[in-house]
Amino acid sequence: MKEFLQTKQTEMLSLLEKLVNIDSGSHHKKGIDEVGGILKEAYEELGFAVDVIEEAENGNNMVITYHGSENPTMLAVAHMDTVFRIGTASERPFTIEGDRAYGPGVIDMKASQVSLLYALKALKENNQGALEKIQIVLNGDEEIGSHTSRPIIEKFAEGKKYALIMEPARKDGSLVTARRGAGRYSVYVTGKAAHSGIEPQNGISAIEEIAHKIIKLHALTNHEDGISVSVGLIEGGESVNTIAPSAAAHVDVRITYAEQAEVIDRKVREICASSDVAGTTIKLEGGINRPPMVKNEQTIQFLEIIKETGEELGIKITDVATGGGSDASFTSAMGVSTIDGLGPVGGNAHSVDEYLEVPTLVERTSLLAEVIRKLANK
Ligand SMILES: [Zn+2]
Repeated sequence: MKEFLQTKQTEMLSLLEKLVNIDSGSHHKKGIDEVGGILKEAYEELGFAVDVIEEAENGNNMVITYHGSENPTMLAVAHMDTVFRIGTASERPFTIEGDRAYGPGVIDMKASQVSLLYALKALKENNQGALEKIQIVLNGDEEIGSHTSRPIIEKFAEGKKYALIMEPARKDGSLVTARRGAGRYSVYVTGKAAHSGIEPQNGISAIEEIAHKIIKLHALTNHEDGISVSVGLIEGGESVNTIAPSAAAHVDVRITYAEQAEVIDRKVREICASSDVAGTTIKLEGGINRPPMVKNEQTIQFLEIIKETGEELGIKITDVATGGGSDASFTSAMGVSTIDGLGPVGGNAHSVDEYLEVPTLVERTSLLAEVIRKLANK
C-alpha cells in the first residue's frame, strides 16, 4: 500500500492545505461544519455512509460506516476542531518549508484527517474487506472537552475490539499508550463587603476564605501517586480598601489511576463543604471529566501488532505516557483496547510553531493502513 500512497502525496498535501486554510476553532461552528462537509463528500465517494449528527452551537459530529458493514470491530476517532480563533488561517496559512508544513491545526489534527481518509483509500485499492470492519467518529468539540461527542464516541465504541485514536504521534514519533485523567472545578465564595478603614468588623472576607481553600486543595497533590491539584486561576475582591465580598478559584485536577477519581472528588467536596471564615458561603461546581487512559495488558497486545507492522515497513515504534487528555480516555475506560497517537509525526500543537514532518504523512498513513488490515483479520 506504500507504493499507492507514495503516488498520492501531492494529492494528500493539497487536501491538507485546503483543510488547514479553513478556520475551525471549537467555537466556530461554520468552519468545523465546512471541514466536515469536505470530509463527508470524500468518505461518500469511497463507499461510506455518513450520518451527520447536527449540533445547535458546536460543530456537527459525524458517524461513518461502510455500506453493508454489519459488524465493525474497530472504531477510529478524529476531531475536526482546533484551538485557534477566526482569522488565524488567513494570518498564517498553510506553508511548507523544507520537510515541515505549518499552519493552524496542521498536526492537531488536520494531517490525521488526511491520513485516516487516505489509509482507507489505500485499503479500498488493495483489500476492500477491511473497510467493513472499521467505523469512524469525526467530532467537533474535542478541544473543549468533547461534551457533545462523548456519548456518541461511547455509543459506537461499545462492543468494539479496538479503538484507534488519531491524535498526532509525538515529536519523536512515539505512540501514546497512557494519559492522565483530568477534572476541573470552580469554587465560588461569597462574603460581605465593608469599608476596610471605617467598619472592617462588619465585613466578611471571601478572599481570606478562598485562601484557606487554595492551601487545602494544593495539599492534595501527590506527585509520587501521579495526583496533581492546582488552582490555576483566581478572581475576587472589589477594591483594595473593601473587605472582599466575593472570590473564585478555578482548579485543575490530574490523576493517573481510575480509582483515584472518586477519592480526589470526595476530598475536594469535603474541603469545600464547610467555611474556615465564619459567615462565608461556598458553591462548588465541576468534577472529574476524563478518566485516565491506562497502559494495560490489552494495550500492550495492541501495541505489539503495531510494532510488528512497523518493523515490516522499517518504522521503529516506541510509546509514551502523556499528561494531556484526549478521547482515548473514554474508549480506554470502557475496556476497549485503545492506542492513541496514530496520526503523522509533528509537534508544538496549540502554538504558532505547530508543524508536521511532511515525509511522515505517507509513512504513517501506510502504517495505519497496514494496521487496519491486520486488525480486520483478528
Ligand atoms: Zn488533538
